[in-house]
Amino acid sequence: MNDMDYRAGDARYYMPAFSREIMIERGLLSKVWDAEGKEYIDCVAGIAVCSTGHCHPEVTRAICEQAGKLIHCSNLYYVPGQADLARKLVEVCGMYKAFFANSGAEANDGAIKLARLATGRKKFVAFTHGFHGRTLGSLSVTHKPAIREPFLPLEPSCTFVEYGDLESLKKAVDKTVAGVFVEPIQGEAGVIIPPDDFISGIREACDRHGALMIADEVQTGMGRTGKWLAIQHTGVLPDIVTLAKGIASGFPMGALLAREGLEFRKGEHGSTFAGGPLACAAARSTIRVIEKILPDVPKKGKRFSDQLSAHNPRAKGLMMGITVGDTCPAVQKKCAEDGVLVNCAADGNLRLVPPLVITNDEIDLAASVINAAMAGIRR
Ligand code: PLP
Repeated sequence: MNDMDYRAGDARYYMPAFSREIMIERGLLSKVWDAEGKEYIDCVAGIAVCSTGHCHPEVTRAICEQAGKLIHCSNLYYVPGQADLARKLVEVCGMYKAFFANSGAEANDGAIKLARLATGRKKFVAFTHGFHGRTLGSLSVTHKPAIREPFLPLEPSCTFVEYGDLESLKKAVDKTVAGVFVEPIQGEAGVIIPPDDFISGIREACDRHGALMIADEVQTGMGRTGKWLAIQHTGVLPDIVTLAKGIASGFPMGALLAREGLEFRKGEHGSTFAGGPLACAAARSTIRVIEKILPDVPKKGKRFSDQLSAHNPRAKGLMMGITVGDTCPAVQKKCAEDGVLVNCAADGNLRLVPPLVITNDEIDLAASVINAAMAGIRR
């Protein structure tokens, strides 16, 4: 099969769990090129993954240098760069210790296990429209019925409370609850930003009953909203933070960070690949790049959302959602035709999560294409 047969090959040989149109062949910072050579400004960034953009030279160099020295060694040995990455992450996130995973779902599975070990309790509380992953553990705390129900019964058992409804949350949390999973801004739901006192209310409810507060920052973390963590905008300190997506610029990695006193002891958790030398090199270089660009993220986000103000965007840094409705797929298609990749999250919400390195010129061009697509589709 040659490269031009990718659509037929996919249809014949790959399980049809995704629907897709374009093959992206190469990328550089905020731009990608498809298999036909067409150029796009990428406002999807692998769904908030390519934080430093595509193939950022510093990240690519760090991965290549590490690949020339050691690709894998197992956690039976000290892993080059692992402790330093853990130190850096806990410092910028205000946590105490780290443990690595290979994805967001796995990081959340780790959080479920750690909360159960620490509290001796079994049950969890999470929120409507929340997304925490598709492994059986993380799916248990994920709300969307269409992806959950085929796999029932799921374990651990989870009570879902309306996102933003503090009174219902207070009723749901009691002394039998191990932890509350919350996205400080819901991503897959379409960039839903909760009321100001919601996050601090969760903290209080957890404290009252000895439940752990688990901030799922898989999508919102690593500078996406203009701070290392979205929860840092609220001043609330959770017990556990989970990270993945933007942590290593697209190299698969997840992380679980915990406050002092919460840790896996010998033999309680582990993974063959997690926190390996390549992932650590990718993440450490990603953090070095983000440290330089983080101060500009709020300004860039404002520039972008100001230009989309006619559509009432919900925005925090470079994480934006616009309620479009049933025409969202048509807007997505038109933007792609005109050279801008955007994505429809749940319920007809257009989601924009471009690389944090996106330039002002790229923002201006992307905004004009999105505005034109929205105007054209409405007519
Ligand atoms: N948590 C959140 C908030 C997410 O947005 C996602 C993925 O979209 C996940 C967890 C699952 O991450 P992964 O796909 O890496 O397992």
